[in-house]
Amino acid sequence: MTARDDCIFCKIAAGETPSMKILEDHQSVAFLDIHPLAESHVLLIPKDHFETLDEMSASLVAAVTAHLPRLVAAVTSVAGAEGCNVLQNNGRASGQVVPHVHFHVIPRRSGDALGYRWPAGSYPAGRAEQVHAALKQALGRAM
Ligand code: AMP
Ligand code: ZN
Repeated sequence: MTARDDCIFCKIAAGETPSMKILEDHQSVAFLDIHPLAESHVLLIPKDHFETLDEMSASLVAAVTAHLPRLVAAVTSVAGAEGCNVLQNNGRASGQVVPHVHFHVIPRRSGDALGYRWPAGSYPAGRAEQVHAALKQALGRAM
């Protein structure tokens, strides 16, 4: 088990810091977010310390995220919600505050106070082709 001494989620995973756990196995744990955006807002984490998703192996991501379907169903029904957001932030610029990978499951209702910002843009002529080629090359290198 890899843990970081100064990481609050490592301490929660190890049971050293109290949390309201709702699900646990040898690789993952899910617990109530202490400052929920809505009641039943939960966090799902790998027990081992990884700062961002790209540091994790594909098999560990698969094992952790395998809990999401049941979590989504439980959170949505217990909250009496109409749906939910699954949100995973990587890096400060994305809004990540706790540097240990976590998936938020946040219940949603139409018209709730959380809102939704999706300021979609478009590619200038020729740019999508450049980005497409760069991404394919980056993936080719990574595989
Ligand atoms: P993020 O901004 O994606 O890094 O989200 C971090 C989340 O962790 C926030 O929603 C916090 O409310 C939550 N959080 C921080 N400390 C704790 C804790 N001790 N127990 C439960 N949730 C926590
Ligand atoms: Zn950690």
